Amino acid sequence: MISADYDGLVAATRATLARIAADFTPAVFASSLAAEDMVLTDLILRAKLPIGIFTLETGRLHAETLGMLDRIREAYGYEVAAYRPDTAAVEAYVQQNGLNAFYDSVDMRKECCRIRKVDPLNRALAGNKAWITGQRRAQSATRSDLHVQEEDVAHGMVKFNPLADWSEEDVWHYIRSNDVPYNPLHDRGYPSIGCEPCTRAIAPGEDVRAGRWWWENPESKECGLHVVDGKLIRIKQIA
Ligand code: SF4
Repeated sequence: MISADYDGLVAATRATLARIAADFTPAVFASSLAAEDMVLTDLILRAKLPIGIFTLETGRLHAETLGMLDRIREAYGYEVAAYRPDTAAVEAYVQQNGLNAFYDSVDMRKECCRIRKVDPLNRALAGNKAWITGQRRAQSATRSDLHVQEEDVAHGMVKFNPLADWSEEDVWHYIRSNDVPYNPLHDRGYPSIGCEPCTRAIAPGEDVRAGRWWWENPESKECGLHVVDGKLIRIKQIA
């Protein structure tokens, strides 16, 4: 359902982003290039905020997801920075375990995510005061306690989730009413998009994150970007 105070929600999100740009420079936005992240991309770039945008180019993304880099360049004239995994680490993992060993166990999956996502994320975040994600509270069981502003003790910086209060319908209302480019996979049953071999389309009525690591329990379904030593890094709510 679209939020009753949708306009207020958008205004609050604009204000949050402006506050980040004013008080937390340098700040970066970690974009997965999915729908939520396109809303934030649009808000940041239209307002010309000094917030860098990057994505984790894992080497296993769908062609449609990679195509979003071109769509963003065409629509906004902006080049999203792509952080890639260490080649030697990827080669060692594949040589020792196989290209798709992440299907074998949660540990194997987390090791692949560490190499392809977590380590590049740490490089992308280094030297910043704050980082931003497009996570929403309603997305999954692991995100039910998400707040707009949190302290990321693992990375030693503030983490912002400006869309924490948004519904899925709010996201799509913003995209459609502002003509924001979006990943065509969303129209083919992919509400949540990750790496190609770890994401499947979902059936109507399924949980929006049911297509991510669908062979695992819901509790283990985070890539490690928001988890350290098995704990969510949302240790302390700030606002
Ligand atoms: S989502 Fe899958 S392919 Fe991508 S880094 Fe994680 S385990 Fe590897």
